[in-house]
Amino acid sequence: MYQKIKYLILGAGPSGLTLAHTLLDLGIAREELLVLEANEEPGGLCRSTVVDGSPLDIGGGHFLDIRKREVLDFLFRFMPPEEWNSHDRVAKIILRDQEIDHPLEANLWQLTKEDQVKYLESIAQTGSVRGEKMPKSFIQWVRWKLGERIADDYMLPYNQKIWSMDLNLLGTYWLYKLPDVSFHEILKSCLEGKAFGALPAHGTFLYPKKYGYGEVWKRMGKALGDRLFTNTKVTKIDLPNKIINDTYQAEHIITSIPWTLWLKIASSLPETICESIKKLVHISIDVDYQKENLSTPAHWIYEPREEISYHRILVRSNFCPGSQGYWTECNGARSPQAQGFRHHNEYAYPVNTLDKPKAIATILDWGQGNNIYGLGRWGKWEHMNSDIAVAEAIAIAKQIVLATR
Ligand SMILES: Cc1cc2nc3c(=O)[nH]c(=O)nc-3n(C[C@H](O)[C@H](O)[C@H](O)COP(=O)(O)OP(=O)(O)OC[C@H]3O[C@@H](n4cnc5c(N)ncnc54)[C@H](O)[C@@H]3O)c2cc1C
Repeated sequence: MYQKIKYLILGAGPSGLTLAHTLLDLGIAREELLVLEANEEPGGLCRSTVVDGSPLDIGGGHFLDIRKREVLDFLFRFMPPEEWNSHDRVAKIILRDQEIDHPLEANLWQLTKEDQVKYLESIAQTGSVRGEKMPKSFIQWVRWKLGERIADDYMLPYNQKIWSMDLNLLGTYWLYKLPDVSFHEILKSCLEGKAFGALPAHGTFLYPKKYGYGEVWKRMGKALGDRLFTNTKVTKIDLPNKIINDTYQAEHIITSIPWTLWLKIASSLPETICESIKKLVHISIDVDYQKENLSTPAHWIYEPREEISYHRILVRSNFCPGSQGYWTECNGARSPQAQGFRHHNEYAYPVNTLDKPKAIATILDWGQGNNIYGLGRWGKWEHMNSDIAVAEAIAIAKQIVLATR
């Protein structure tokens, strides 16, 4: 016979872990829920390992944004405030072999006067400054918002590297994630010699004093005890009966694993849902460690030069006490052969294609009608940060309990 589980959670990344704990906080009995995780450790993209004697975040550079009180309070239950260091972000961009603070448009004042004039002239002619309508495609949006120079010197080459795909396929609905600096603020920053404008995330961030970012999720997983099965990959979903891996029969499935896997493992998916899933695109990221110490105050550096394979450097020695070296993030499609430690993240970024909003809305609607809930980065197909993943999982747990009690 099958083991009956009221709430079966697929995946123990930040989303699945938070959802499970919130269900318990809301009074759901332990035996009513179960989390299945493919890896031997929970934490998903937020896991860390030890490389060259210090922590390294295998999913890329991970920093905790401090702006959501509810999220901090939740995470501090597992890793109290005294175990975190607070950092004022130092993020740089390589531009013409020079390090400039990020975001570029707020820090043009760091260029020579001659270059400042060239960039300002280019921004003054943008569609956004002239009040033209915001375009719908990404490339046009970059030129409309930031001008030809920033587009050609940084934004487009950098985005070409990270996505390694036709940028015309990207939409603009996700651009609220990028810094928003007005022309007025750009001029002011050049005149006053300091940055103005809003940073979308990580102005100040927390990073563990002694561990990698993965530690908090590891502890969260441990606190679930026998309600979390690691090394348990979901390989079969009998959809009409909600039977997973021929073992567990769920009343409600909460899925934080990529929908594209469902195509391979779920039986009887309706044709329209298969078609929508096929429209979802993701990219992979390779994380590579380098031993060398870099002389820079940056926590991380964006690298737009095409001839260099990776697109971001994470300067571990500047945020991880007692460590040395750095690691890089590179799109898996363009990364050269590994020279040392490498972790390949097949599912790293969901891609914000023009097609995505409609496709994911169709999938989520269908799921909801069948007691299947999409959760987190892969359930919602959104490149949300872990603080958002936690906040959303808390909210969704409350909704599910309200609807199913
Ligand atoms: C390069 C990079 C940098 C980032 N930087 C930051 C940052 O600075 N700050 C920040 O807050 N966030 C950052 N993020 C985002 C953060 O990683 C995500 O928000 C978070 O991991 C989302 O959690 P999740 O649980 O939704 O997804 P995931 O972490 O992807 O978890 C999904 C889980 O499902 C499991 N799974 C998959 N398939 C199966 C299967 N068949 N059976 C069972 N289990 C399965 C996986 O093993 C994984 O554990 C970054 C992400 C990347 C890629």
